[in-house]
Amino acid sequence: MRFQPVLDTLPVYEAGKPIELVVREFGIPPEKVIKLASNENPYGVSSSVQAKVSEALVKMPLYPDDSYRELKESLAVSNGVGVKNVIQGNGSDQIFDFATRSVLEKGDLVLQNGKTFSMYSIYSGQCGADTLSTDSTEHDLNRFSDLYKKHHPKLIFLCTPCNPIGDALPKTDVFSFLDTISPETLVVLDGAYMDFGKTRDPKTEILPAEIVSKYPNVVYTGTFSKVYGLGGMRIGYGIANEEIIRAFYKLRPPFNVSQLSQLAATEALKDQDFVNQYLESNLRELEKYETFSESKGLPFFRSYANFLTIRLDRAKLSSTELFETLLREGIILRNLKSYGLNAIRITVGRPDQNRIVLDRLSALL
Ligand SMILES: *Cc1c(COP(=O)(O)O)cnc(C)c1O
Repeated sequence: MRFQPVLDTLPVYEAGKPIELVVREFGIPPEKVIKLASNENPYGVSSSVQAKVSEALVKMPLYPDDSYRELKESLAVSNGVGVKNVIQGNGSDQIFDFATRSVLEKGDLVLQNGKTFSMYSIYSGQCGADTLSTDSTEHDLNRFSDLYKKHHPKLIFLCTPCNPIGDALPKTDVFSFLDTISPETLVVLDGAYMDFGKTRDPKTEILPAEIVSKYPNVVYTGTFSKVYGLGGMRIGYGIANEEIIRAFYKLRPPFNVSQLSQLAATEALKDQDFVNQYLESNLRELEKYETFSESKGLPFFRSYANFLTIRLDRAKLSSTELFETLLREGIILRNLKSYGLNAIRITVGRPDQNRIVLDRLSALL
C-alpha cells in the first residue's frame, strides 16, 4: 500500500512507560511501582469526582450531550470568558490537532522552541508542514522573533511553563512578543502547567480571558490531565475568540469527549481545595529535589511545573543507565535522551514516593 509520503518521516510519540510494563517485565506488584514519568497528579483525583463518576456509570450506554454545555459553561465561568470562546478536546492534544489542521497546508512553517512538547511537530508534520525550532533549551523570545521575521511561519507554539524543561515566561514578555505577531499567524499558548507556574511566581500567570480580549489570533489550551488528576480521562480545552473556535468545530469528530470524562471534568472544577493542596505540596516537594541536586553538584533547570529536569553530564551514570536501573526497581522516571539531552525528568510525587526516589538517586549518583 502507498501511504501518504509524510508518514515516511513522522516519528511515533514516545509516552512515559506505563505501570503495566514494569509489572509485566519485572514482576513487580503494581502497588509497589512508583510512576513519576508523565507529570500526573500523584494524589489521584478529588473524591467528589470519583463519586460523580461512579454515580454516572449508568450513563455509559448513552452518547454524551454533544453541545457539552455544562462543561463549557463551567469553564467559561471559571475563566471569565463566554461559552462561545470555549471548545472541549479529547485531551488538550486534540486542540493542537485542530489548530494545526485549521491553518496548515503542505510546505507551511511552524515555529516552536528548541526543547518542547514533541506532539507539536508531529501534528504539524501530519499536515505536511515543516517545523522550525529555536536553538534554545529554555524559551528565548528574542530567538522566536528573529525566526518569525525571517520565515513568517503560519503557526507558533508557545508552552509556558514548558515540558520537558520546566521554564516559564513572564506574562509581560509574552504579551510584548504577541504584540509583534501578525493577526494572520495563529499562536497556540499551551498552559498545561499554568497553575504550577503561578504558584511559584505569579508574574508567569497568563489568564485565558486576557488572551481572548487582547489577541484574536491566539488560542489558550488547558488540560485536566495534570493538576486535576484526570490524565486517564483524556480531557482538555481551548479558549480563543469565536472565529477560531468556530473553525475548530468544523474539524471536530462528534462526541469528541466521553460522557464520563466531561462529567468528571465539570465536577473537578468545583473542588479547588483539592487543587490548592496539591499545588502547595508540589512546591514543597519540588524544593527537596532541587536541594538534592544542588548537594550533588548536578545542574538542573529551575522548574515552574510539577517536575524537575536534572542534567547528568557530571553524574556517574548517563540518563539511560539511570533510567534503566530504576525501571528494574519499579521506579519509572522520564529519560530525556530522545530530546537530545543527557537528563532525567522526575515528576514530583507524594512525600512518601519522593523519599524513596531521593534515597535511590542519592545512592546511585
Ligand atoms: C501533559 C501536557 C499536555 C496535556 O496533554 P493532554 O492531551 O491534555 O493530556 C499538554 N501540553 C504539554 C506540554 C504537556 O506536557
